[in-house]
Amino acid sequence: MATVNENAGHHSPNDVVSFPSGVSAEASFELVLQATRSLLWIKTEADACAVARELVENLGGTLVSADEDAGEALPVDVSFGVGQPLLPSAPHSSVARMLLERRLPGFVRDANRALELANQANRLAEDASIDLITGLPNRRMLGRALGRIEEADAVIMIDLDHFKTVNDAFGHDAGDRVLGAFGRTLLSVVRAKDHVGRYGGEEFMVILPESSADHMLARLQAAWVLAQPRPITFSAGIAPARANPQGVLIAADRAMYRAKDLGRDQWQWAIEEDYR
Ligand code: GH3
Ligand code: MG
Ligand code: MG
Repeated sequence: MATVNENAGHHSPNDVVSFPSGVSAEASFELVLQATRSLLWIKTEADACAVARELVENLGGTLVSADEDAGEALPVDVSFGVGQPLLPSAPHSSVARMLLERRLPGFVRDANRALELANQANRLAEDASIDLITGLPNRRMLGRALGRIEEADAVIMIDLDHFKTVNDAFGHDAGDRVLGAFGRTLLSVVRAKDHVGRYGGEEFMVILPESSADHMLARLQAAWVLAQPRPITFSAGIAPARANPQGVLIAADRAMYRAKDLGRDQWQWAIEEDYR
């Protein structure tokens, strides 16, 4: 079997034409460089796997699953955990095999490092924008959505009624579970293009077309009765953006407090004074 060391360091001009796979040592270096550059752009394990597969094939190898292996596969998994383990393979003593043995382990190490960094960046972005108890966007993200609100939209502020009593009677963890369940229920009754998030504490916000606000809240009320871990109602205020896009947040909040004053477990539309 031609080992890596036998081939390394014994270059002659004939090497270039004598590689039966059609890939010269120089060309293989270029292919690895290209593939390594692609690692700068990967976001997921599937991306890494695709880059590795292409490299293996360009170097003249094939990919086999562990159970297809006829004893020719290299012990380097390039699946990156996507599906079954995927091993590069090439006949013993072939140039393709030599190239794979020489180039692939280092490439896979680089790919794993690139994935680690990509995942770190994803996590940081998520930490800064997702509320951990409900999995919903946080106030910062809602602020951004508010900045892009359209004339036909409305802001809905939702606040759980007497939520403190859940904490007092059953503990903070039970309170957290109620918040998580409410977040999931809320998410299940809005459309993909609506914005929904946890504004803070036991307050949630939705930005959606004004025309679907009443329907959404009715769906929420019905779904929440079935999903709630503890019997607890909510109050809400709806403020259309068309009246005054800058004033919607305060108007929705005032309308929500009016719903509280009127006995809770209901929603109110903002009136003109609420925007001032
Ligand atoms: P109201 O109907 O007037 O809104 O009454 P309330 O009890 O819901 O409102 P209040 O503002 O008095 O209390 C809100 C409570 O929410 C107090 C606070 O401890 C609790 N809370 C805020 N954030 C969290 C949280 O992340 N987890 C839990 N378990 N409780 C929280
Ligand atoms: Mg509150
Ligand atoms: Mg409350």
